[in-house]
Amino acid sequence: MKNFSPIFLGNWKMNSKKTDATLFFENFFANDPERKLRKQAIVGFALPYTLLDYASRLKVDENYDFLLGSQNVHWAPSGAHTGEISAGMLEEFSVNFSILGHSERRNSYGETSGNVALRAKNALSSKLSAVVCVGESQNDFNNKNSEKVVLSQLQESLEGIENSDLWTVSANQLPPLVIAYEPVWAIGTGLSASPEIANSMCSTIAKFLSNNFEQKIPVLYGGSVDKSNVTDLYKEDNIDGFLVGGASLKPDVFSEMITSCTS
Ligand code: PEP
Repeated sequence: MKNFSPIFLGNWKMNSKKTDATLFFENFFANDPERKLRKQAIVGFALPYTLLDYASRLKVDENYDFLLGSQNVHWAPSGAHTGEISAGMLEEFSVNFSILGHSERRNSYGETSGNVALRAKNALSSKLSAVVCVGESQNDFNNKNSEKVVLSQLQESLEGIENSDLWTVSANQLPPLVIAYEPVWAIGTGLSASPEIANSMCSTIAKFLSNNFEQKIPVLYGGSVDKSNVTDLYKEDNIDGFLVGGASLKPDVFSEMITSCTS
C-alpha cells in the first residue's frame, strides 16, 4: 500500500511552442473527459517558461486541471541573475512546483548541490513544491558508487531544509518536497533502470528521508520511463511515481501510462 496517489510529473525540457502545447493539452484531456486520471493520480507538467502564461490561463478552465511546474527557480527574490527566474515571477502564473538539480543542469550548466539546497529552501518558503533530482553517472554505476553518490547529493541538496519548511497535504496532493531518483545513464537513453535497481535506490532514499524528516516524502523514479515499463516499475513498493521526459510530450502515451498505474 502506497502513501500517495501515483505521481506523474512531465518534464518538457526545451521543447514545445504554444501551438504544440495547445495540441498536446487538447489531446491529453480529450482522453480523460471524466477527469478520472486526475482524480486518481497527481499529474503535473514542468513547462518551458514561455508556456507558463498560456498554461496558467488554460488551467482556469476546470477541465484542464493539472499542476503547473517550472524547470528551475532561483534563491533570490530579484536582481542581477541573467537567465534565472524568481519564485515571485512563478507565483504570478500560479506555478505549483519546480524541478531542481536536474542532471542536465548539474552536468551541462554547473549546478551544484549547494545551489540546489538554496533553490529548494527558497521554493519552499514561497510555497512552491521542490522536486529535487539526484542520480549517479554511468561511471559511478559501473564502479558500484551509486549509493554513495546519491546519498551525498541528497544530503547536500537538502542542507538547511527543516521539518518546519514542509506544509502538510492530503494523499492526493503534491507534497512540498519530492525526490526524483534519475540515474544519468537512464535519462533519454531508452535504457531504464530495472525495477529492482530503481526500487533499491528509492528505498535507500526513502530511509534517508525518514531519518531526516517527520513527514513522508515521495520518491519518484525517472529515466526512460514509457508505457512498456511503467507498470512493472510502479509495482515496486518504494516507487511513488515518475518524472518523465520524452514520453510526457506524447499525449496518448502519457495518459496511457498514468491509466495503467491507476486502474
Ligand atoms: C528527465 O529528463 O527527467 C527524464 C527522465 O527524461 P526521459 O524520460 O526522456 O529519460
